Amino acid sequence: MIKLVVFDLWQTLAYREVSYRITSEILKKFHPHLSKKRLVKVFEESVQTKKWKSEYKAFEKLCKDLEIGTSKETVRLLMSLRDYANSKTKLYPHTLPMLKQLKKKGYKIGLLSNSSVFDVKYLKKATPLLKFIDYPLFSFKTGKIKPDLGLFRRLLGIARCKPEEAIMIGDKRTDDILPAKKIGMNVIHFKNYKKLRKDFLRYGIKLNAI
Ligand SMILES: [Mg+2]
Repeated sequence: MIKLVVFDLWQTLAYREVSYRITSEILKKFHPHLSKKRLVKVFEESVQTKKWKSEYKAFEKLCKDLEIGTSKETVRLLMSLRDYANSKTKLYPHTLPMLKQLKKKGYKIGLLSNSSVFDVKYLKKATPLLKFIDYPLFSFKTGKIKPDLGLFRRLLGIARCKPEEAIMIGDKRTDDILPAKKIGMNVIHFKNYKKLRKDFLRYGIKLNAI
């Protein structure tokens, strides 16, 4: 029986309403010798695994790790790109109605996200999302990023839930789906709400259209 539904955050429940991704901008402007995939992981490792007090210090570390120089202009540019994107944080139309329905049906809600302390500050300011989450777990608090299996186990531990009693839902195969599967959780690969509703039916969970 399913007791817990765990969501990824970005591109599953929330998004930034801007026409760029900071990682693509870094590739375009600074040409670090990295693939896009690797760059995303360096970004997450540098900025999202520590409770930074100073945003400048966080982005200086990122520039160092990317080997693109740590001039004030570079650090400030990356900071402002991320800040502007974060200021446009939005929830998808399905997010709150879906969470309300799940909670009404008695499911507990978890959140497992690679996010920085700054991302979460904006999320809290712009949306009421965290009020609907029973067990939030952010990488900046744990020091680990997905796909680390320990994060998934830790969330299940906090929720006192067995893997087979939980569903992990996220948009990234490598970060959300494969690790959850590996430890025995049920999984739904998120594409859009229409497909998600259909996938929920496999577990006997019927949600309204939005
Ligand atoms: Mg995501």
